[in-house]
Amino acid sequence: MGMVMIQCPETGRAIPTGIKTDRDSFLRSPVFFARTRCPICNTDHTWFATEAWVHEPVAAAQLRDRTVWPGHRRSSQ
Ligand SMILES: [Zn+2]
Repeated sequence: MGMVMIQCPETGRAIPTGIKTDRDSFLRSPVFFARTRCPICNTDHTWFATEAWVHEPVAAAQLRDRTVWPGHRRSSQ
């Protein structure tokens, strides 16, 4: 899972939208627009899905997958 990020139009900084999804699901989802409270500007920014991206810790996930034995995954849940 990753966090949907947008670029703040005022500062150019990446800010999290609070929407969690994975990259494939996000790319398959229809184009939508949403409003996110910007912690930098302390105001609401309206954004389209085409402007957003998913910040996913891919390297960490791949490393974890390689080091977990088959059958032991999610054994703690
Ligand atoms: Zn902003």
